[in-house]
Amino acid sequence: MSTPKFRVAICGGGVGGLTLAVALSRYPDIVVDVYEAAQSFYEVGAGIGIWPRAFKVLRKLGHDIEQQLLQRCGYQFTEEYVPGIKHRKSDQAVGTQLFELITKGNQMRFHRADFHGVLLSHLPPSCTTHNTKRLKAYIQPFRHRSRNSSITLIFTDGSTATCDVLIGADGIKSAVRSCMMRELAECMDPDGKQSVLSCINPVWSGVTAYRTLIPAEKLRARCPDHPVFGGEITQYLGKDAFFLAYTVSLGKYINIAGFTLQPDLVDTVYEADARIPRRPFEGKANSEWVGELTAKQFVEPFKGFEEEARLLLECVDRGTLWAAHTVKPLPSTNFGRVALLGDAAHAMLPFQGAGAGMSIEDAYLLATVLGHKATTLDTVPRALAIYDKLRRPFSSDVALRSRFNGQLCAFQTNVPLHELGKTITKNWEWAWLTELDDALKEAIKLVENSSININ
Ligand SMILES: Cc1cc2nc3c(=O)[nH]c(=O)nc-3n(C[C@H](O)[C@H](O)[C@H](O)COP(=O)(O)OP(=O)(O)OC[C@H]3O[C@@H](n4cnc5c(N)ncnc54)[C@H](O)[C@@H]3O)c2cc1C
Repeated sequence: MSTPKFRVAICGGGVGGLTLAVALSRYPDIVVDVYEAAQSFYEVGAGIGIWPRAFKVLRKLGHDIEQQLLQRCGYQFTEEYVPGIKHRKSDQAVGTQLFELITKGNQMRFHRADFHGVLLSHLPPSCTTHNTKRLKAYIQPFRHRSRNSSITLIFTDGSTATCDVLIGADGIKSAVRSCMMRELAECMDPDGKQSVLSCINPVWSGVTAYRTLIPAEKLRARCPDHPVFGGEITQYLGKDAFFLAYTVSLGKYINIAGFTLQPDLVDTVYEADARIPRRPFEGKANSEWVGELTAKQFVEPFKGFEEEARLLLECVDRGTLWAAHTVKPLPSTNFGRVALLGDAAHAMLPFQGAGAGMSIEDAYLLATVLGHKATTLDTVPRALAIYDKLRRPFSSDVALRSRFNGQLCAFQTNVPLHELGKTITKNWEWAWLTELDDALKEAIKLVENSSININ
């Protein structure tokens, strides 16, 4: 290999970190190290849906990845208009169909472990992975524009490493974000300082998620013609609580994700319910937000729901509870030669199934600006500022749309039931009617024309 132009350290091997590592593999002059806190790269046993906008980005990673993802998914990707998600009013003895979300292109749904496995198997030899490496802090020399000033990474086991560029893909409790906000705060007046420092800790959204997978056979034995086997997603809506269900792993499992929304608790400190045991998550930092649910606890928020919903819930053996936290809008996602992506930059509510897609988009745009031949070690700060300029406003907007979608689905807005379909569609159509390509073109233009001011 020729002399590398720089060494990139990716902190965190989740969806965003691994996508970035794979996307950077197209640039042989960049050396990549991935540092992951957990002992192994793994994902929770749950489903994940990827909308056309993000799936088209995954396709850019190569034919082989696309084919393997399609195999795991079990159906083809289409760009036609297709029925997307059925929405029912289910908090009553006899439910009613409210509307069907029609999307241009279908949502691709995976078991998280399957999805992660495909990315992992495409890590190139130029990428070294390091497990059980939880970053505690980094030190970026003040003269980060100087060629010989490496960034030092400090891990909780006392070891250190160096890199030229650091990308924090370390999720909602990002250690990289924490250090970056402190760095930013040092350049601010006291008021600005407080505001920047308040972005370090995630805030509770008042939303609790209930997640589980049920074996499809179990439901089939009770109800062989349950609508979930038709392959569509259904959202069973109710006042203040709703859940969605769809099949994953080629129909072997049914993913159920339920939510309760308590508006009076938005931005409060989450207090775990003492009756729900904490889940000791190997390597993961947010175990105090995750609990083990019995079947009875899982179904509790949805009692009184219609039969179609109840049949699914009756198959639940156990599940996990997640207190959904978010990251406040950041003043910046880059500083010097450090940048944030995915949940580290903009953890959002899961009501549009967009968080992983956003981290995939972030990763691809970052790889595009870093890998571009016009980007050198000296111009990395500008490349990262271009990334921030193009991604931060977009992801902030998606975060607001996602929050609103949850409120609509939990009947917490003034939108009348007959207007719900139109409102939900309008609020969500960015995920299938827009593409990352415009931002990619703009990014390349800005990288190639260093005289264009990006502030
Ligand atoms: C109930 C629910 C349902 C969802 N459904 C969807 C969906 O259908 N579609 C969708 O697009 N999104 C969905 N999301 C959101 C999605 O899961 C996240 O947005 C996505 O996983 C973020 O990816 P990431 O790579 O940024 O972070 P993560 O997936 O959180 O990965 C971060 C990685 O960094 C590691 N790490 C953490 N701290 C450190 C450290 N200090 N040092 C080193 N490593 C560290 C972690 O171990 C982890 O491997 C859902 C979320 C929830 C809660």
